[in-house]
Amino acid sequence: MIIALKKDTCREERERLITWLESYGVRTHLSEGEFQTIIGLVGDTTRIDTDLISGLEIVESVTRISEPFKKANRKFHPDDTVIQVAENVAVGGGQFQFIAGPCSVESEEQMETVAKAVKASGAGILRGGAFKPRTSPYDFQGLHEEGIRLLLEAKKRTGLPIITEIMDIGHLPLFEQVDIIQVGARNMQNFELLKELGKTDKPILLKRGLANNLKELLMSAEYIMAGGNERVILCERGVRTFETYTRNTLDLSAVAVLHELSHLPVVVDPSHATGHARYVKPMALAAAACGADGLMIEVHNDPPHARCDGPQSLTPEQFDDVVKSVRKVLDALKGA
Ligand code: PEP
Ligand code: MN
Repeated sequence: MIIALKKDTCREERERLITWLESYGVRTHLSEGEFQTIIGLVGDTTRIDTDLISGLEIVESVTRISEPFKKANRKFHPDDTVIQVAENVAVGGGQFQFIAGPCSVESEEQMETVAKAVKASGAGILRGGAFKPRTSPYDFQGLHEEGIRLLLEAKKRTGLPIITEIMDIGHLPLFEQVDIIQVGARNMQNFELLKELGKTDKPILLKRGLANNLKELLMSAEYIMAGGNERVILCERGVRTFETYTRNTLDLSAVAVLHELSHLPVVVDPSHATGHARYVKPMALAAAACGADGLMIEVHNDPPHARCDGPQSLTPEQFDDVVKSVRKVLDALKGA
């Protein structure tokens, strides 16, 4: 349920209403936008009499939210959420971000080369997997703790905030200096992991599962937000279909739908979506054109020898070209 307050409502009246609502055992969520103040209610609202609330002097309107996701719902928070990742780096609300780096952290030399290159091209956030969710147990699983150490080294050297994937909540202490924690597609519905991440104050990039619809993605975001961590970035990375020429099928309509349904930022990963370096640029351009808040792109200094996802990785030069072209799309869209 959401309660929109009249414009001139004073703080004391608002607090009195919130205290009264909470006496029904529901939790309240206040969103003070530029044009409207909204109180969102989460929990069992069946005992709350909407007519009674509608009749209050300070109340503009009362609406029951039919969707099962509440905190992630745009009705709860009409303005776009902007997530401050580092001092000068934000995601959401029109601040287009490039997240770039290798699929997996492999060596100090690799991280140094790639981090420097993507920063020079305009990436604002460095990616790299230390714990890799591989289909085969015989494939490279990541450098684990050492991988995080190398990411932190690269962060220190370049000043870029870093993002890396968590697979086991027991590893959380290793993520203390990580700027964004990634939940990969395979863990999108690992609810116990999501609940624990909800207790942290780190931004979480939540990737859409291989075969999950958008309601399920938003419900997973809700799991994190319900725990108190509202800094969630959604990521469309393609879903599994009958198509075999691409690794997955990039669902760009997800960007428009998620922006309509939710206030959370939406980034697109054209690397895992297509599986081929040559399709990354066209899909990156399309993602920018349809309103994505950023891109996550795999970049490797030597793609043919990458230990993971070489075929879909761009060289630093190719990444530079993508950034320049995406910027042209973003410029062309200004005022569109
Ligand atoms: C990744 O970004 O490293 C990754 C494994 O992606 P996904 O979870 O989307 O497959
Ligand atoms: Mn990868």
